[in-house]
Amino acid sequence: MADTKPKKLVFTRQEMFEINKKTLNKRGVQLEAIAEICYQQQSKYSDDVSRDVCMESVEKILSLRDVFHHIQLAAEIDRLAEEKMFQGPIQDIIYEDLGMFGIDETMGLDVAGLYGTIGQTNFGDIDVNKHGIVKRLNDAGKEDGICHTFLDDIVGAIAAAASTRVAQILNEDLAHEDTGVKRFSIFDIK
Ligand code: MG
Repeated sequence: MADTKPKKLVFTRQEMFEINKKTLNKRGVQLEAIAEICYQQQSKYSDDVSRDVCMESVEKILSLRDVFHHIQLAAEIDRLAEEKMFQGPIQDIIYEDLGMFGIDETMGLDVAGLYGTIGQTNFGDIDVNKHGIVKRLNDAGKEDGICHTFLDDIVGAIAAAASTRVAQILNEDLAHEDTGVKRFSIFDIK
């Protein structure tokens, strides 16, 4: 019998946020842990960063359609790899998180790229230095039966995008202060 269940393809931003949050929680990721990476990254450049603005940024990014598609696909690829559902060499390549496999990073760069080159640079930092939850996911992914090949990059990319959004908010605040005194830029490298 044909599948008569109506298909739902488009979701509101609120729905996408809720589904993303549920998916991430199910895969062991709390939003606070993503916001924490964002906080650690931006508080290096400014004393004005609050955990609230980091969390707000994470939530906003989780409601974007592009991000929704990335998270949903990434989480499913990892799950299917855990269940050994892929055929051919790609099953072991994904499951073993082969170092030279880079499509997970491509997806991460794509998400971080929503916030431009700075977003991608911030993603590079998180990817290489494996902050907080990204390191925990990466380590847990080495255990038997667990695959985090795509999840660690997606989580790092959400943190990078949120971090860049926070930087933009702080820059906007700075631009509004008409003091005539040259202020620091949070993009300055110390
Ligand atoms: Mg990865």
